[in-house]
Amino acid sequence: MPGELVPLLLDWFAANARDLPWRRTLDPYAVWISEVMLQQTQVKTVVPYWERWLGEFPDIRSLADAPEERVLKLWEGLGYYSRARNLQKAAKILAGSHGGRFPDTVEAMMELPGIGRYTAGAIASIAFDRPSPILDGNVVRVLTRIFALPGDPKGKELNGRLWQLAEALVVEASGFPRRRPGAVRSAGPCSVLNQSLMELGATVCAPRTPRCAVCPVAGRCVAGKSGRAEEFPQAKARVAATERRFVAVVLARGDKVLVRRRPADGVNGGLWEFPNEELTDLSADARSAAAAWLGLPPDAFIALKPVKHTITRYRITVDVFRVEVGAKKLPTGIGTTWAGPEELERLAFTSAHRRIVRQLA
Ligand code: SF4
Repeated sequence: MPGELVPLLLDWFAANARDLPWRRTLDPYAVWISEVMLQQTQVKTVVPYWERWLGEFPDIRSLADAPEERVLKLWEGLGYYSRARNLQKAAKILAGSHGGRFPDTVEAMMELPGIGRYTAGAIASIAFDRPSPILDGNVVRVLTRIFALPGDPKGKELNGRLWQLAEALVVEASGFPRRRPGAVRSAGPCSVLNQSLMELGATVCAPRTPRCAVCPVAGRCVAGKSGRAEEFPQAKARVAATERRFVAVVLARGDKVLVRRRPADGVNGGLWEFPNEELTDLSADARSAAAAWLGLPPDAFIALKPVKHTITRYRITVDVFRVEVGAKKLPTGIGTTWAGPEELERLAFTSAHRRIVRQLA
């Protein structure tokens, strides 16, 4: 079966690949950045981030030498900030002991912080045309449908089977001649095969309403042919969302507001935010809670628009208040830095708190 699928996938990608900026280069550094940015983020969001990043950090050494604050700033809005920090940690290792060169084997790549089997396989195949398999959400969906594979794809048994299938396909592809897809760099067959699986999952084999009528492998797809595509993959039921509430305060002194930096080792470590506290009682009155916390009268608090966002399984609401504090003394430990408008633009904020900054502007 892999033998039948490979030419269909290679030809389809050659004719249908989207023209994306990271597909115009074989530089492993540029491919690495794109792969890490694309984890759980849509292509259209990633494009401007990738272009800005490559403009400012065009190679391993420039990333290794950059101030961490600037690295986080260029990542601001993408979330999962440990990824940005791991990119820089890995760049420092490569600049220090590998002569600034990117390794060309999966094993060596996986020794670097933040590079797992998927990312290493993607870089090795795309930049070096190695027959290294990849398995991300898109590839899981395509393979479980083509082969109608039941079970939890994160479970040990099915996950192992999927990696085997992905490997069989890319190894089979390695025997095909190099081709030149229209909008894409002159790519080797392993690169094209892996990208074709990801591209098919992203553009044709959608989670809901897959477009089997235009799919290049429709004639070989067990689930597609029997009208059962949407039954796969059979993921475990999601954990129910948990509501959380916070109150955040914009304490203003003239044109400056008080901000603080999150501890380096926690969630969103190293990013900036407005002073905030979690409300343990979901039905509590946020204004009264903020007033009690800061020891200021409730009527001094002017409500701004609440910020709602979701992180993993948490649905979070942040009630936001602005308070003009003038020369009033504040409880210690609330914040560390009085920042003006320019400073607020320069600092890297968490996504939720960047939305508060926008309200102030
Ligand atoms: Fe997905 Fe349908 Fe193509 Fe099968 S035939 S891979 S279900 S789009």
